Amino acid sequence: MQKTKSAIKGGNAGRNRGHNRRVVLDYVRRNEPTGRAEIARSCGLSIQAVSNITDALAADGFLQMVGKATGKRGKPVVQYRFNPDQSFAVGLEMRPDALVCAVLNLKGALIVADRIAISNATPARAIPLACELVEKTIEKAGRARSQLLGVGVVMPGPFGESALSGIGEANLPGWQDIDIKQSFEAALSCTVVVENDATAAAISERVAGVATKIDNLCFIYFGTGLGLGVIAGGHAQSGAFGNFGEIGHVITQVDGTACSCGNHGCLETYASRMAAKTYLKARGHSAIDTEALSRLMVAQDPDLQAWISRAAKHLSLAIGMLENIFDPEAVVLGGAMPDSIIEALIAQLSLPKGSVANRKERSIARVIKGASGRNTAAIGGASIIIHQATTPALSLFN
Ligand SMILES: [Zn+2]
Repeated sequence: MQKTKSAIKGGNAGRNRGHNRRVVLDYVRRNEPTGRAEIARSCGLSIQAVSNITDALAADGFLQMVGKATGKRGKPVVQYRFNPDQSFAVGLEMRPDALVCAVLNLKGALIVADRIAISNATPARAIPLACELVEKTIEKAGRARSQLLGVGVVMPGPFGESALSGIGEANLPGWQDIDIKQSFEAALSCTVVVENDATAAAISERVAGVATKIDNLCFIYFGTGLGLGVIAGGHAQSGAFGNFGEIGHVITQVDGTACSCGNHGCLETYASRMAAKTYLKARGHSAIDTEALSRLMVAQDPDLQAWISRAAKHLSLAIGMLENIFDPEAVVLGGAMPDSIIEALIAQLSLPKGSVANRKERSIARVIKGASGRNTAAIGGASIIIHQATTPALSLFN
């Protein structure tokens, strides 16, 4: 099996302990089974430092010893594996019309997911219902509450007050003025991380999806609107105000379709679930939900086909832009859109030739399909908690 290098190195100074723990844990998680010498070599740490860390991680239950392999000089070498059941993480997606909860083990495998429908999802109404859903889902998963690592709350951005806040049907009502993290922490009595759905989806792909060995990726996320999550050098980008990646409001058509944000020609008005719905409604189709889109796809509906060709043109421009700005190993498309439509969009892309990503020696395609389906964002929320605990970029262990 091909081993990955560790993009983020450890440091041998004592004050780096929390960071080094995550460097080692992340390496073992992605390259198990592995031994101390290999970890030290790949993570830039001394054998002594690695021994201390693996002992501590094994004592805490994060690593398991799995027998011995024969080393270079014929000496038996202890091998380690990551223990995915040391604890668990919960993801909670807040949507204008539904709350979705997912429980994942530390390897990012889904144990159980549940959802409830909701209308008028204001904080006062939605937070108590969400907490109830979290407790019920943990119980269904058969896990002890004391093993809960944290809850990743995922919702569409943008957060706080800005010109893009509170506009359009993709937004939640009344959430601009409250401290979302604090409100959920008080209600759930545990660590809470709040993230937008696209970033959560990108992290989810890195923890357990198509990008476990990719340190630089852009994820275009089909929520109700369109979002972008970016992992650069193994780190999820969040921007100064947590509003990184509002790609839906990037203009791909000068003097184009009017958008709810006040601009004209936003990408989201051409390539999103909302755009598909509007386009099909104008051509006499009714009740366009995800299932209806799947059915139209199976029936090769000419209106949907026409929408896909148009959307693919706008997406191609946006992807070329992302490639030249971020130099990712791949751009991933996924989210709450039927698989068949994402595949058709990818098949119809005509990516710009003038891109840094257009080179002969590629090990993966420029654009690949990520995970999709109705639990994607909630899984992403739980993945953030796992990512924080097991990767070096963030600091749950400090
Ligand atoms: Zn817009």
